[in-house]
Amino acid sequence: MKNLLLILILLVMENTAFAQFTQEPLPYAFDALEPSIDKATMEIHYGRHHKAYVDNLNKAVVGAPQEKMSLLDLQKSITAETPAPIRNNGGGVWNHTFFFNGMAPKAGGEPKGKLGEDIKATWGSFDHFKEEFKKAALGRFGSGWVWLSVNNGKLVIQSTPNQDNPLMPVSEAKGIPVLSLDVWEHAYYLKYQNKRADYTDAYWNVVNWERSNDLYVKALK
Ligand code: MN
Repeated sequence: MKNLLLILILLVMENTAFAQFTQEPLPYAFDALEPSIDKATMEIHYGRHHKAYVDNLNKAVVGAPQEKMSLLDLQKSITAETPAPIRNNGGGVWNHTFFFNGMAPKAGGEPKGKLGEDIKATWGSFDHFKEEFKKAALGRFGSGWVWLSVNNGKLVIQSTPNQDNPLMPVSEAKGIPVLSLDVWEHAYYLKYQNKRADYTDAYWNVVNWERSNDLYVKALK
């Protein structure tokens, strides 16, 4: 009986260690971003794609230096030498959590505060900023991300391939992200099919600018 209890405790401990990285809850319902981002896309994107990145990351980090890192430190550890499953799934987990948290129901509109001011100062107008962001979204061949980041105190629009992000030393685009757009086909294909431009336009209806402004103010410090 004692042995059985010990085995059970060891199994629970092993399972806990295995699930080091967990999937953050979605901060709104699957249908909360309708009609801009549809319910079925959110269910599959969060429930299958994001979950798979978490599960696969937990398998990939076993025995690696990243095993005991925070998710943020893991991003900062990704070099050209990092095994692809850690780079791809580690980026996949962080990028999706960041992206999902960057949207909200009853959001959109124009950015306010310091971020709103500096977007206008950098691109002349919010409309021109949106044009440049869309160019980056359409210009990303295949799968990847578009970012609004802070680089050396300046706002920049960047794009990364696959699941890379500007926090990774391996990435050519470097900075502290304040906003992101997933331009993988799985992010929009069910509703928009091949029309990435329409998906990018609809994204502005659900951007949580308050959160981006908070990130921006922090990034400047
Ligand atoms: Mn995605």
